[in-house]
Amino acid sequence: MTTESHHPGLQRPALHTQPPRGASAWVEIDVAAIAANVRELRRRSSPAQLMAVVKADAYGHGVDVAARAALAGGAQWLGVAQLSEAIELRDSGIDAPLLSWIYPPEADLATAIRRDITLGIGARAHLASVARAARAVGRAATVHLKVDTGLGRGGVLEDLDAVLDDLAPLLAEGALTMGGTWSHFAFADAPDHPTVRAQQERFGEVLRLMEARGIPTGVAHLANSAATLTNPSAHFDMVRPGLAIYGLSPVPDLGRPEDFGLREAMRVRARLTTVKRARAGQGVSYAHQYVTDRDTVLGIVPVGYADGVPRSASSAGPVRVGERTLTVAGRICMDQFVVDLGPDFDGAEGDVVTLLGVGVAGEPTAQDWAVAAGTINYEIVTRMGPRLPRVVVGEA
Ligand SMILES: *Cc1c(COP(=O)(O)O)cnc(C)c1O
Repeated sequence: MTTESHHPGLQRPALHTQPPRGASAWVEIDVAAIAANVRELRRRSSPAQLMAVVKADAYGHGVDVAARAALAGGAQWLGVAQLSEAIELRDSGIDAPLLSWIYPPEADLATAIRRDITLGIGARAHLASVARAARAVGRAATVHLKVDTGLGRGGVLEDLDAVLDDLAPLLAEGALTMGGTWSHFAFADAPDHPTVRAQQERFGEVLRLMEARGIPTGVAHLANSAATLTNPSAHFDMVRPGLAIYGLSPVPDLGRPEDFGLREAMRVRARLTTVKRARAGQGVSYAHQYVTDRDTVLGIVPVGYADGVPRSASSAGPVRVGERTLTVAGRICMDQFVVDLGPDFDGAEGDVVTLLGVGVAGEPTAQDWAVAAGTINYEIVTRMGPRLPRVVVGEA
């Protein structure tokens, strides 16, 4: 099976059911894990609804398959950042409730309204442009008002009263329908941080203010993955997890995926393309950051920073070879890196090695790579590039 992108202009990796013949590296997506993770998150947050966040090609997992797996696991909503991502989901035949929250003033809001895409309203100017598009289409636009309760990023901050003043007549006119009210945390991954409680209280205040003014709040939602897992008092009417759906921990200091009943959905595998002997004292890869300390066997792993393997994990990233976890030897290059397989290595070209996998199975994880690269697990999975074919495993 191979499918092409439905939306010209967005580059998507091809989907397969087997590693394609001759592929030197690929990403496996366990759709059963995504569905099971959503079921677990639903169990923890019900009766709140769940919006599965599938922006950025479902954090690198492939939006088509990930969105369907999340819906199969019980997600009632899908969330994406850019409007182009929402339109692509509609083009691929997904008709679930869908929220999009990033669009410029000149975006094709009429198409969004016609295709039943709910729009986040993060600024006073958005209200007017969405209402104008709704009048042109001849149909109400459903909106979720985004309030900045302290993140200091998107959302209405100081001019809430003015926005509510603008909003009331647009609702009365029928240009807009209030579908929801929402906000986002600054420190969800530090549940005891004082801003968490402060933002939650501010959010409650805004909801009460709207009710007092006779403006329906619709579905209230605030919790990302970290708050879904660690802060039930922030669940409100709906939770909005992304990372946890893919089986990664948003709070690695507080728990591993398995501690939350989650399983990693992405595995990254590659075939050794070269296996060769080298003498002690051989410098390895650019700038000879690694030098062999004995006669040994070197293996070439054909993925590099062009594929999303971070160069900052040079001499640090973990690779599973058979029953051993080795460390990248020297610099990670654009298309490849080297591992020192040791003098007794008895494998050969074509052997499969694992960069990312399931922690409980002893495989390196996105979190291990994040530590090696000085970043977060989100960035590791999200950057896995389109040159790596996606192989769908399991059944949602
Ligand atoms: C990305 C995003 C989410 C999901 O965050 P996770 O930490 O991945 O759960 C939720 N809400 C908003 C506004 C986002 O941008």
